[in-house]
Formats: sequence, structure tokens, C-alpha cells
Amino acid sequence: MIKIKSREEIELMRESALIVSKTLGEIAKAVKPGVTTLQLDKIAEEFIRDHGAIPGFLGLYDFPNTLCMSPNEQVVHGIPNKEPLLEGDIISVDCGALKNGFYGDHAYTFAVGEIDEELKKLLDITKASLYLGIREFKIGNRVGDVGFAIQNYTEKNGYGVVRELVGHGLGKEMHEDPEMPNYGKRGRGKKFIEGMVVAIEPMINLGTHRIKQFSDGWTIKTADNKASAHFEHDVAIVNGKPELLSTFAYVNDALGIITNEESEFRAS
Ligand code: MG
Ligand code: MG
Repeated sequence: MIKIKSREEIELMRESALIVSKTLGEIAKAVKPGVTTLQLDKIAEEFIRDHGAIPGFLGLYDFPNTLCMSPNEQVVHGIPNKEPLLEGDIISVDCGALKNGFYGDHAYTFAVGEIDEELKKLLDITKASLYLGIREFKIGNRVGDVGFAIQNYTEKNGYGVVRELVGHGLGKEMHEDPEMPNYGKRGRGKKFIEGMVVAIEPMINLGTHRIKQFSDGWTIKTADNKASAHFEHDVAIVNGKPELLSTFAYVNDALGIITNEESEFRAS
């Protein structure tokens, strides 16, 4: 059952999302060759707690940490560890926070130092596909319209769209209805309704869409060991249109990226 949020609830969810956005901004400052994913995890946990929130993933389904940290061929759900990141790696960072009883949940894939052109393009295309998907999250459309937009664009670029893991409704629970696949057919699936809040999160692979799970029971990696990227935003339907609750503005500030890619989805 889809749980519709009131305007007041959407404002509370914006607070939760912004804590995650700011946390990812702190991570952006700290990602560099030599840092470990466990060190980044500690930065995130402290920052979230200092801002009056609770790490959203820690203990959820027994996940052991604050961040899911998935380098290179890992897709999602990687567990932070003491391995240093290396120049040329990419690292997908997924973060959740719980405040006022509502979850924020979004993700960014960072370059570690200088990365090669093939990886740069994977990050650019995956992030662009997220915004193409968000544009379809509006009254008059259905779940399949978002998935189609993401799949069509990324497959045209020769990439693989992960099937087994999907976006989701978001609210008092981390995973609510509906499921939001990153693939689909136009005009299919559940209809979008005013006051829906979802996490849209393309997981896009350089090679095959197929994945495997590590024996740790968590980490998902690509079946061909090629790189994978993951970007995620929290979005509400307000006045029939998609409105971003999360933002990459703090990441962009930290990395010196100038862009207006979020401007059409801001609250008016
Ligand atoms: Mg997430
Ligand atoms: Mg999510």
C-alpha cells in the first residue's frame, strides 16, 4: 500500500533528506586516495548524530554500519572496511538518516583522485539518468515511465541496468511501496499520486546487468567485475510535479562542480 504524505510530513522528510545531503557533502571532502571506507563511515555516523538524527542503515536488517560503501565492481550494500581507497577507484556511498520518525536515503558515486574517461562517462551518464527518471515522476505517469527513461538512456550508452535491486517508496519506513525499478515500459505499473515520496536510484553497470552476491550476505557486485555506479535522490510529488527533497549541492560545493541539473526540481 502506498502511504501518501501530507505537506507537513513532506517538510519533515526534507529535513531527514538534507541531513543525508550534508553528510554526503562531508564525505565528498574526505574521499581521497589512502582513506579507508571505515574512516568515512565514522565521519558520517558522527555528523548524523551531531545533527540530531540516527544513522538509518545501522542495524536495519542487521546492517553493521552507517554507510553502504561499494567500490568499483561492487554495486551496492558494500560493508565499510580498513582497505584504503586507491587513486583511480570509484566509490558508491549510500547513506540513510532517521529524524522526526522519517527516513532520508540517498547516494552518490565519487571519483577517488583522477579516474579514467570510461569511468567518468559511467558516472556522468548514471547521474544524468537519475534526473531523466525524476522528470517522469509526476501526475499522469506511472512507475514504468520512470524505469523506461532510465533504462532507455543508459542502455543506449551500452550499459547494463541492474534488475534485482530497485528504488522504493520512502517514509516512516526505509522501504515502502511502490518498488521503483530502473527499467520498465512506458505507461505500465502503478499510477503516481500527489504526496507520494520515493527514492529513485539507478544502479548502472559498465558491462553486464548481471550481479552476484558476496558470501558476507550483503555486498552485491557485477558478474563480470566491471565497474558499477549508483546515484539516488528522494523525491516528492507536489502540485503534480517532482520536487527534490535531497540535493547534491553540498557535494557539488565540496567538489567545485557547477551545475543547474536540480533547478527544475526545486520547491517553488
Ligand atoms: Mg540508498
Ligand atoms: Mg534507497
